[in-house]
Amino acid sequence: MTDLDLVVRASRVIAGPGEVGRCIGVKDGSIVAIEPLTSDLSAPVVLELSDQEVLLPGVVDSHVHVNDPGRAQWEGFASATRAAAAGGVTTIVDMPLNNIPPTCDVPALELKRKTAADQVHVDVGFWGGAIPGNLPELRGLHDAGVLGFKCFLLHSGVDEFPRLDPDELEAAMREISTFDGLLIVHAEDAHTIEHAPTAHGATYSDFLRSRPRGAENLAVAQVIELARWTGCRVHILHVSSSDVLAMLASARREGVRITAETCPHYLTFAAEEIPDGATAYKCCPPIREAANRELLWEGLRDGVIDLIVSDHSPSTPDLKAFETGDFGVAWGGISSLQLGLSAVWTEARRRGFTLIDVARWMCHAPAAQAGLRRKGRIDLGYDADFCVFAPDDEFVVDATTLHHRNAVTPYDGRPLAGVVRSTWLRGEEIDVHAAPQGRLLTRGGA
Ligand SMILES: [Zn+2]
Repeated sequence: MTDLDLVVRASRVIAGPGEVGRCIGVKDGSIVAIEPLTSDLSAPVVLELSDQEVLLPGVVDSHVHVNDPGRAQWEGFASATRAAAAGGVTTIVDMPLNNIPPTCDVPALELKRKTAADQVHVDVGFWGGAIPGNLPELRGLHDAGVLGFKCFLLHSGVDEFPRLDPDELEAAMREISTFDGLLIVHAEDAHTIEHAPTAHGATYSDFLRSRPRGAENLAVAQVIELARWTGCRVHILHVSSSDVLAMLASARREGVRITAETCPHYLTFAAEEIPDGATAYKCCPPIREAANRELLWEGLRDGVIDLIVSDHSPSTPDLKAFETGDFGVAWGGISSLQLGLSAVWTEARRRGFTLIDVARWMCHAPAAQAGLRRKGRIDLGYDADFCVFAPDDEFVVDATTLHHRNAVTPYDGRPLAGVVRSTWLRGEEIDVHAAPQGRLLTRGGA
């Protein structure tokens, strides 16, 4: 084969169903050859991995809050995509809220694309929003290239992105099913939360009681039934309550088109270990008990949970209320975009999982769920997006050295396994200090 731009030689490549030695040829940003390690493929640029390094597909993080325009001081496209690249992530999908205006109509999507253009170091796709009153906008957003629609079933945390009530949820699903779109749902039931004790003060167990697993269980059951009636494809965001796993499994057996994700923090931390006042750990739904965490890992093992994404949801430090440590007033969201791969690998290998599993949860499955057909795999015809990963290296997280705009993360000071040595986007090594080379992705176009 002639005229390749890049050849990668690695004794450990996560490709297909296993870990294999391969020589990979890249042309015009795509993988065009996958041959045995003995192959004599050549190119002007040759990347040779050591035996301590593994070639992974670039991570696809389909749950990121970039917050730009409107709240760019919370994150922003330049800082978010630098952090992504440093963490082995080559594609993010941006959530439709916390930015102002929220991405609930085509002009808002166009404004967001204009804001992101020329700033992104990795590829970026967009979710649209489903809120009360924007039913007529959904088809237009779909045609304009959003990958699906997010909705909330309780207060979202920001007033400009209201929740859907059950009738509005059903109407949104009926509309989205007319073009076989995807609805992704923050599943906590508003009434259950209203009847739970109010969150206030610095005691984590009080905060946990204010976000009971029953709220999540009830909301997931409701989404399952509506998906059954309407035929709409649905996805449950950030599963935190292990109670929902059995419901998800039975719904899927019965043909309901439903997928689910969880996040590194639910798989790493445990409520029993969260210090009082440590609001860096506040997120919604909340981090639950250690026993619950182990059941989430079993859900991944069984395939009931399809994927792991960061739900990177930063804010400025003042909104985390560190002076009082009051969980009632602190912003609910955890920053981890740059750390997701290492955080998951640290906990996964401890439980006997391999990088093949991690690549399935963090590369293949999120790409498939978001409909990104050229992403998430090292295979012919896919984008040459790679993460060079040293799984046995370790580091201690220092929040101040991360590319996140704000140095707040519950992982600060935590030792993690697995170091990202370099990240490659469409055949080029990402240099976060050089001109950004990322592209904006649209549904069907990537
Ligand atoms: Zn989120």
